[in-house]
Amino acid sequence: MSDDTDHGHDIAPATRVVTAGRRDEWTRGIVNTPVWRASTILYDDVADLRAAAGKDTHHRLFYGRRGTPTQWSLADALTQLEPGAEGTFLYPSGVAAIAGCLLAILSPGDELLVTDSAYDPTRSMAGGLLRRMGITTRFYDPLIGAGIADLIGPATRAIVMESPGSLTFEVQDVPAIAAAARARGVATVLDNTWATPLLFPAIAHGVDYTILACTKYVVGHSDVMLGSVTAAPGRFAALRDTAFQLGQVTGPDDAWLASRGLRTMAVRLKQHQDSALAIARWLDAQPGVARVLHPALPSCPGHDVWARDFAGSSGLFSFVLDGGDERARAALINTLAHFGIGYSWGGYESLALPVDPHRYRTATTPDVAGPLVRLQIGLEDPGDLIADLDRGLAAFRAARG
Ligand SMILES: *Cc1c(COP(=O)(O)O)cnc(C)c1O
Repeated sequence: MSDDTDHGHDIAPATRVVTAGRRDEWTRGIVNTPVWRASTILYDDVADLRAAAGKDTHHRLFYGRRGTPTQWSLADALTQLEPGAEGTFLYPSGVAAIAGCLLAILSPGDELLVTDSAYDPTRSMAGGLLRRMGITTRFYDPLIGAGIADLIGPATRAIVMESPGSLTFEVQDVPAIAAAARARGVATVLDNTWATPLLFPAIAHGVDYTILACTKYVVGHSDVMLGSVTAAPGRFAALRDTAFQLGQVTGPDDAWLASRGLRTMAVRLKQHQDSALAIARWLDAQPGVARVLHPALPSCPGHDVWARDFAGSSGLFSFVLDGGDERARAALINTLAHFGIGYSWGGYESLALPVDPHRYRTATTPDVAGPLVRLQIGLEDPGDLIADLDRGLAAFRAARG
């Protein structure tokens, strides 16, 4: 269980980010838990070996696949950042975390409900791996809220949420969906990569399993793939058993880099938030921009839910162009000097990506009339980024005609 108090006072999230997961027996006085690399662990004698085999290996050296203090420290830190959580398991990517979580919950014959705004690889997993295992999926309107109750049937075992949605940023009413699910004994899973527990403590809002693509804000430096699932009380053992059976293990070097990134996550997020908000508001007033999809702006679907539930916003949002085609959108993106063109996000560098949400929808049609551009706002000076986008929009307007 996470310990949220210090002599009876609540510890602020920014302080927890610095202190969480650090234990003397793992660090030996070193600030960042060092890299403990291991496959074989040696035992004192046969009796010691036999005794270890019968015990719970949580936080005990047993064999490299069960981890070392480097991974345990990061997992513990993520648990401590999530008030009310029982435990966290790490995975070699965000997608592996989603798979590990769903395989811990679902069995053949079960039905899964997935938000229509979900990250595309989550959809592919439902239509591929899960379907092959005899698990059916129905996609639902991300703005369904408490209406999810009407979709829950006798075979429904889990509900996947992602808030805000990957490309279109609809903010989901997570507490309402979690309450409806709980009333029917259905497990809830949230992809919380955009907000992290610092901006949306998911388990405190009723979620059973909260997932981070740590590749994004936890790592923060665009150089490591990593994922995590943090479980509510009573849910961790199933998660860990499934991960062990799947042979999932995260390399200690990657876990160490992620622990190093985590310590600055609160200040990075604050800067991502401030710069992204300034740029989103500037874009909202520009000719050539039809609409900005940023949860903190009233034009974003679910904005009121964001204002009610979230402690802030991060650095990823989209904007809809006013007319134009693929070529005009490419003129904008190709003109940008300070934005890289590439997948992923959450690092220190800005990125711009052409995205086409209509391709990935089956239950709803996103309210996006023109070409869409997704921006990840990095840690550069926001004035430079605005000047860059100004040149890009001029190129877009010229190409659009
Ligand atoms: C990137 C991402 C993932 C997957 O993370 P990887 O580490 O790239 O596998 C999952 N969910 C969301 C919302 C993402 O943006």
